Amino acid sequence: MDDAFSTKWVDVVLPHPPFKQLTYAVPQRFRNALKQGQRVLVPVGRRRMTAFVTAPVMKKPDLKNIRELDDLINAEPLLSDDLMHLTRWTSEYYLASWGEVIRTALPPGILQKDEIRIHKLNAKRVSGQQIGDLEQRILTALPEERPILLPHLERRIKQRSIRAALLRLEEEGRIRLEHVLAGDGGRPRTERWMTLKSDITQQDLDVLAKRAPRQAQALQKLANLGGDAPCSALDTTGDVIRRLEQKGRVETRLLAIDRDAYSHVDTVPSQPVTLTDEQTETLRRIDDCMAKGTFHAILLYGVTGSGKTQIYIEAIGRALAKGKSALVLIPEISLTPQAVQRYRSHFGSQVAVLHSRMSAGERADAWRRLHRGEARIALGARSAVFAPLNNVGLIVVDEEQDSSYKQTDPSPRYHARDLAVMRARHNQCVVILGSATPSLESFWNARQGKYILCHLSRRIDNVPMPEITLMAQPDPKETGASRIFSVELEHNIKVCLDRGEQTILLQNRRGFATFLRCSACGRVEECPNCDLTLTYHLPDKSLRCHTCGLHKTAPSACPECGGATLRYRGVGTQRVEEELRRLFPHIRCLRMDLDTTRRKRAHDDIITAFEQGDGDVLLGTQMVAKGHDFPGVQLVGVISADTGLLFPDFRSGERTFQLLTQAAGRAGRRQSQGKVVIQTRAFDHPVLQFAASHDYEGYYTWEANQRRELGYPPWGRLIAVRFRARNADLAGAAAEAFCKLIPKKRTFDVLGPAPAPVTRIKTMHRFQIIFRASKSNDPSGAHLRKQVAGALSRFPQAGRFRQVYVAVDVDPVEML
Ligand code: ADP
Ligand code: ZN
Repeated sequence: MDDAFSTKWVDVVLPHPPFKQLTYAVPQRFRNALKQGQRVLVPVGRRRMTAFVTAPVMKKPDLKNIRELDDLINAEPLLSDDLMHLTRWTSEYYLASWGEVIRTALPPGILQKDEIRIHKLNAKRVSGQQIGDLEQRILTALPEERPILLPHLERRIKQRSIRAALLRLEEEGRIRLEHVLAGDGGRPRTERWMTLKSDITQQDLDVLAKRAPRQAQALQKLANLGGDAPCSALDTTGDVIRRLEQKGRVETRLLAIDRDAYSHVDTVPSQPVTLTDEQTETLRRIDDCMAKGTFHAILLYGVTGSGKTQIYIEAIGRALAKGKSALVLIPEISLTPQAVQRYRSHFGSQVAVLHSRMSAGERADAWRRLHRGEARIALGARSAVFAPLNNVGLIVVDEEQDSSYKQTDPSPRYHARDLAVMRARHNQCVVILGSATPSLESFWNARQGKYILCHLSRRIDNVPMPEITLMAQPDPKETGASRIFSVELEHNIKVCLDRGEQTILLQNRRGFATFLRCSACGRVEECPNCDLTLTYHLPDKSLRCHTCGLHKTAPSACPECGGATLRYRGVGTQRVEEELRRLFPHIRCLRMDLDTTRRKRAHDDIITAFEQGDGDVLLGTQMVAKGHDFPGVQLVGVISADTGLLFPDFRSGERTFQLLTQAAGRAGRRQSQGKVVIQTRAFDHPVLQFAASHDYEGYYTWEANQRRELGYPPWGRLIAVRFRARNADLAGAAAEAFCKLIPKKRTFDVLGPAPAPVTRIKTMHRFQIIFRASKSNDPSGAHLRKQVAGALSRFPQAGRFRQVYVAVDVDPVEML
């Protein structure tokens, strides 16, 4: 192989703590066998660890004690050059270690320690080539009739590090290596199949039936199934199978079967659709870009229900037709059967789904199918941006504005949309970012001419956008504690119920009451670990912290003053459900929030039930607003638009606008115009006014002006550095010390250090520094990143600050 390294030393990176890059000497036997992205075993301290080869080292490294690389794990690289490039770029941009990024890029099942089973093959096929001493000893030690596990073989020949020798023997056809992942998760699931060895006649069967009727039955069935079938299809016992095998009538073998997390999803063949004029025009422009075979970023800005998904599907079909593969990212929460089904119905088993709610085994299987090229479309959430596709021809990021694309913790704190653009640039292909409410950053890029803007301004079949009304949210002080629905909203729900239409209700807070207050002394129950109030939950009458998970029985009287009246304040989804049932005793209400969707398929089940009409109302947190396509929904109600609006975060307005537009977009998607009622106490807030008039561009202009004044994205770039410690003074001192490492002469601003808006989480006190650079001074942000990285490398991790955790967040999305 010409791309194999011939040097005496190589660099590797560890995908486990301590996530280091290390240099090893290459033993003679691996010379010319190592490639970038290959998985190897290396000694680290007294342990052996998996590592990935990154680069050849030309000159003798200036190190005292260079240890030798132990062994190769796979003969071919596990990570392609493309993924090595992407992961390295990610580590540099987000100031994370390369090893951490590689760990994130691989599904959990893949990095588990794997077991190797060695099968000895029939030696007759082998050429008379000379083989080495070690190889000869291995061959002698191998049992003839059954495979042996690697550690057992190593014990037999009293030598370790024999994987490379095994790979050579495999290449020569003397043995076969079978990789199985240890532990439950990633082990490929297998199924035993049975084959008829020779034809059987009716006479044979009759003879057999007299002595062994069950064997005869099984044989008959096997013959009926064409002579080759899974044993499970034969309705027989293991004993019968063994007897038949002993008699030489059949042969059995194990076949790997892919665990398919979505096998329960029906794949109805898709109906051909006639594209609308706007869709046709958009697709023509995408075609033009794809034909050029170079990098193009397209922002597909299309109102909700305008047929964006149909465009992705058409474009994917074009990429496949060119022999290329496609990557489709959708937000985690939208990974419902609906979305998967739409892609599956067009592309069948070409689609491999990757997301965090699948088991380790399911993800490992999907990953392998893509790696081997058996599936050419990767469909997944955030981390699927690292899907092992070759020859990528198209990348789609649906709902590109969604904040779930940004990983906040742990490191690497990457943004999958931005990486998707990078990956497309590196692959010289087209990336489509789709949204009804593009992020300020993406729309800004389109306005700057960096992205091509395609606009779908109308819904399919020209259904008008829903009519949005802002209503006063009932004030508990005026109306008594119980009113949650305005007269208008209650009336509209009733109308929908009477007509047999469906309603979606959004309240972006779970639990029953967001806090419990003593009416005598005003005390509010707070979390002992976090600087946050506790939420009251039914049915167990508990108080819970949504950040650290604390869970305790709610007091019946105030622990401070003994007052017996505790008031439930702040409306959660459970409270809305209770009120709804009080007003409409026969209503069929499906609630969807974190509390009702912990079970693996719960989210899918609720969506499916609602889709099939088994519910009048779908009530929940932001989960109900995202991407769904329910034809029967005529009304959307927002209980309180203000829950997120007043957060001390410069993105709270943008998030609220997006959430309201998404939610409103669920109403009246087919046939007739829908209706939306938004309850608020901040009528005049520009965000609500723009949302109510479907005016994205007006909103964009207003928000962009605010941001320009503050130098915030998209006009500037931010890096947040956070410090956490059990001791508040220590965290503050660490932040001060970090600041001193930043040169006084600089072209960017330093905001802070200051306590973070939430000063304590999980008993850790938090401080932060925000670095802000303007794009006119530092267009790529490289200068700022370099300064922060420099400070980070000089920051004393030992000594006094040993107990301080430092986290760097480049382009932070979460400011709390
Ligand atoms: P978006 O992704 O923009 O919200 P969708 O792609 O979900 O919109 O389209 C909304 C609905 O319209 C879907 O049910 C889709 O199948 C249907 N649809 C899309 N394009 C067409 C078309 N050209 N003709 C008929 N129906 C279409
Ligand atoms: Zn807490």
